[in-house]
Amino acid sequence: KGPDPDVVAIVERLATVKHKLLVLSGKGGVGKSTFSAQLSFALAEMDHQVGLLDIDICGPSIPKMLGLEGQDIHQSNLGWSPVYVESNLGVMSIGFMLPNPDDAVIWRGPRKNGLIKQFLKDVDWGEIDYLVVDAPPGTSDEHISIVQYLQATGIDGAIIVTTPQQVSLIDVRKEINFCKKVGVPVLGVVENMSGLRQPLSDLSFVKPGEAGETDATEWALNYIKEKAPELLSVMACSEVFDSSKGGAEKMCREMGVPFLGKVPMDPQLCKAAEEGRSCFSDQKCGASAPALQSIVKKL
Ligand code: ADP
Repeated sequence: KGPDPDVVAIVERLATVKHKLLVLSGKGGVGKSTFSAQLSFALAEMDHQVGLLDIDICGPSIPKMLGLEGQDIHQSNLGWSPVYVESNLGVMSIGFMLPNPDDAVIWRGPRKNGLIKQFLKDVDWGEIDYLVVDAPPGTSDEHISIVQYLQATGIDGAIIVTTPQQVSLIDVRKEINFCKKVGVPVLGVVENMSGLRQPLSDLSFVKPGEAGETDATEWALNYIKEKAPELLSVMACSEVFDSSKGGAEKMCREMGVPFLGKVPMDPQLCKAAEEGRSCFSDQKCGASAPALQSIVKKL
């Protein structure tokens, strides 16, 4: 039996891509797509040529997070052209192919695998430094196929995103074992939503024992402004999730994989993701940008 023609086509197509990074998570909703989006913005801001491939086929949120909602992909004689945010940041997602953003993609494994294969074979990325691949959560059929194809072309490794609590970490262990089993290097784990960080000036204050809106906010802020204005820029931090068992860092030590850092829950990062903007070097993202910068430096 000769070499698989799909694999040959993929290897040929991705020969112009220097580095391939796979972003994984054990669970949905932990911030994997947000991280993939911000990582892509960051690499592009560092003057690299970047491609972002969204293969989270059932929940494609990448077009929105890159500010590309409603855009179409075009075909040329070289293949499918990505949609560009900047000349050095191209994006491909099934989200661009759905006529209505509310449409659900209800496909069985083989059809999803078929599309992933087609994305890998037919997207014309051109000469790029990084291809960031946003994978679906878990370790399903799609993961096995993407890993097989990417391995044939040489993959740098996987970045795994988790939240600090045990329910997410249990699944991350499975994800790490999956990578070990299939031979994908784990570049490291990112602990996302690691505590809520906000400057005091952005907090709202509620009287003890009271739920919902209250005039205590105005009173408390005015009090601080008058008595100690320097406190307004102090960052308040609260641990939202229980990380008493040591969180992702401890798990990384136990499993012998690198820990890349903690990204706090930052309302400004959430807003940037909703509006399709980069947070990486945005002054407003004072709570999360330094964390993202330190993580990107380690990659
Ligand atoms: P996943 O890809 O793992 O399903 P998403 O990236 O879609 O998760 O994130 C889920 C939601 O949480 C999104 O609305 C996103 O903007 C928000 N989010 C993710 N990370 C953070 C963070 N560090 N701070 C604030 N909001 C975040």
